[in-house]
Amino acid sequence: MQPLNLPPRLLMGPGPINCYPRVLNALSTQLVGQFDPAMTAVMDEVMALYRKVFKTHNQHTLLVDGTSRAGIEALLVSALEPGDKVLVPIFGRFGHLLAEICERAGARVETIITPWGSVFDAEQIEQAIVRHQPKVLAIVQGDTSTTMLQPLEDLGAICRQYDVLFYCDATASIGGNAFNTDAWQLDAVSVGLQKCLGGPSGSAPITLSERYVSHVRKRHHIEAGIRDKQYARPTGSRIQSNYFDVPMLLDYWSNERLNHHTEAAAMLFCARECAINLLEEGLEQVIARHQLAGGAMLAGIQAMELEIYGDIRHKMNNAVGVMIPAKLDGEAVRNELLTRFNIEIGTSFGPLKGKIWRIGTMGYNAREDAVLHTLQALETVLRRHQCAPKPGIGVDTALAHYDKARSL
Ligand SMILES: *Cc1c(COP(=O)(O)O)cnc(C)c1O
Repeated sequence: MQPLNLPPRLLMGPGPINCYPRVLNALSTQLVGQFDPAMTAVMDEVMALYRKVFKTHNQHTLLVDGTSRAGIEALLVSALEPGDKVLVPIFGRFGHLLAEICERAGARVETIITPWGSVFDAEQIEQAIVRHQPKVLAIVQGDTSTTMLQPLEDLGAICRQYDVLFYCDATASIGGNAFNTDAWQLDAVSVGLQKCLGGPSGSAPITLSERYVSHVRKRHHIEAGIRDKQYARPTGSRIQSNYFDVPMLLDYWSNERLNHHTEAAAMLFCARECAINLLEEGLEQVIARHQLAGGAMLAGIQAMELEIYGDIRHKMNNAVGVMIPAKLDGEAVRNELLTRFNIEIGTSFGPLKGKIWRIGTMGYNAREDAVLHTLQALETVLRRHQCAPKPGIGVDTALAHYDKARSL
């Protein structure tokens, strides 16, 4: 067998993206024992770091081992007992994922749907809460399938007013767009590393309010410390998953360190490095860098006279949907970018399949050179497919966008 030798791709799709070099270095850190004070100290550091990433004072801020949907599943399965009502506003593919996970948990799922490419008004969500009186509101912030960013700031107060737990999947948006757990009164949030945080997939940071935790602990009738007698729990309200049992995860991450799974140490080290990377550059600075790179990409694409998908006022900073010109074979263009230029851009799912490309500028790749290379390569490939923008217009426009930002 040959040593692993993958092509040096520039990943400019909707995620995953290339990792920050320091995050890659962290992956190769030697292990220590699971309850070694050196290991548990790193777990405590990670909790403190992600409180800053999430902008929260929540004590209960930790990692779920697994990709982002492990975090989604843990928070929803632990909150929802069979028969509980949940409201899921759907504006893209990941809203359907939340609904499906809630259904599998046995919840009664109510959905409201807005056309792809748009987002909800707070009033629409409030009306649906009044109509359905759910226990939980589950919503995505940034849905990479449509590139839209759902405003969240008014939803927390509505949830408190009607006594609803407020859950959000912010996987695609955190680190590249504003996110304020405490100010927006969120009860449960889950994310992943492989979008704007610039790490590999495989760890899902979560944060939980006291309100959420006291709710899920009610399902957990065994006192901390005698967990081996779990079988004595009343079956009716038992959390359906062992791996995703949030009270058990909290006991493992608490000072009691009650054994649950074996923490995925390599991913813990990565998650730590992603957060340090973000906080050292500065949360606001990193968001501004995403806004700049996303703005330059958008300007370059528009200058090439390609049409942008969706309601641009609600576009995420870190992704753009590009309408594929009617006469073009979108997959042939993507394939040529990949095989001739080593640049990956995204395809689409469901109703948008074959209609749009999705181009990301995230994490390590929210950089001027990455934007310029992508625009240059795209222009060249378009020309080879008889769809010729004015030569150089995309790159020149993106350069001008950066120049203007620097002169301000
Ligand atoms: C990319 C993305 C995910 C990814 O989930 P994985 O389990 O890591 O594949 C989840 N939610 C949203 C909104 C995303 O954009």
